[in-house]
Amino acid sequence: MEKIVIIRYAEIHLKGKNRGYFERVFTVNLERAMKGLRHELRRISGRYLVENFDEGMLDEILGRVSRVFGVHSYSVGYKVESDMDAIFAAAKLVCPMSGTFKVDTHRADKKFPLQSMEINREIGGRLLSERKELCVDVHSPAAYVYIDVRENGNTLVFGEFLKGLGGMPVGTSGKGLLLISGGIDSPVAGYMMAKRGMTVDCLHFHSYPYTNDQAKEKVVDLARILSRYSGAASLRTVSVTHVQEAIHEKCAPDLMITLLRRFMYRIAEIVAKRNGDQCLITGESLGQVASQTIEGMTSSNSVVRSLPVLRPLVGFDKDEIIERSMAMGAYETSILPFEDCCTVFLPEFPAIKPKMSYILEEEAKLDVDALVEEALGTLEKIEL
Ligand code: ATP
Ligand code: MG
Repeated sequence: MEKIVIIRYAEIHLKGKNRGYFERVFTVNLERAMKGLRHELRRISGRYLVENFDEGMLDEILGRVSRVFGVHSYSVGYKVESDMDAIFAAAKLVCPMSGTFKVDTHRADKKFPLQSMEINREIGGRLLSERKELCVDVHSPAAYVYIDVRENGNTLVFGEFLKGLGGMPVGTSGKGLLLISGGIDSPVAGYMMAKRGMTVDCLHFHSYPYTNDQAKEKVVDLARILSRYSGAASLRTVSVTHVQEAIHEKCAPDLMITLLRRFMYRIAEIVAKRNGDQCLITGESLGQVASQTIEGMTSSNSVVRSLPVLRPLVGFDKDEIIERSMAMGAYETSILPFEDCCTVFLPEFPAIKPKMSYILEEEAKLDVDALVEEALGTLEKIEL
């Protein structure tokens, strides 16, 4: 009897003429998730089967499936011949020894001699007569035995539906550039966009030598954690050390963050354009910190000429973001105490609602184009 994993996709997205395309992308994503593990992936109407894997690797396989967007649910079960004795043997492995249970059969193969209700009755009856501490409860059983009689002479028997991540297959909703810091929010923002099917590239700004290698390693780790969900995300870094020094030297201290953000967005748009990214993504949430006011966002947006800036966390509270950060496995890394941007230059009282005229006046003291050009010269691509 063969142990299998059954994967069902979030079918709602796969209707109509895009279905084939979605399925192809989803197949590629599943294969990528399984990379390095012996297995066979097979598609059967509306679901996938993972077969021929090492049973010792089952938990690893389940962990990987649980991180693939587009998976609606998955189950561990058995594949047997469509024969009542074989089905019963599998049902015994799936059903607990005691408590309430229910057999629930789906019969795709209309040629199978018994109907669904008859299969339920027959398998349920056999289980009851072998296990005296079992009892049937059709309304709210503690356990299920699901039987799925397929058209190809095989039957799948399994006991539970594990909830997948949902969302859309990554790669079906374009490509975006995530401004990733070493903080809690931006990795979650990338995760949220990947959940909607977007391929996520990452861009990180550092202030080496004011920031250290540990800060950089932390961002590499976060990008890696994100790439477990978003597929092979890339990571690029750019130094804003000279930008920060120039702002510090020439401009009003309370605008340090506001002006730095504008440089980050400008540089990010150029990197995105070169790279085919169709939007910028940030981890900002309205009102979370001084720079994340609507005025601050207006100021940052106004330097981006032709890409949308997506802020998937804009309406989230910090604890909602932390919850997601923990769920995606990034939190422990995000809270490591290495600063991503130069804190030496941070003002004691940042401007909270800076006027555009004030920002432009202060920015006019800088050679913006030259600083952007110089920063772009420091671009590095890091293999994840
Ligand atoms: P995070 O938790 O993502 O660091 P935050 O709450 O610290 O966010 P800010 O420091 O105001 O907020 O940053 C807002 C957003 O700007 C971040 O979510 C990120 O998208 C971007 N950002 C900030 N610093 C950097 C950086 N060093 N490199 C790239 N992007 C950055
Ligand atoms: Mg931060």
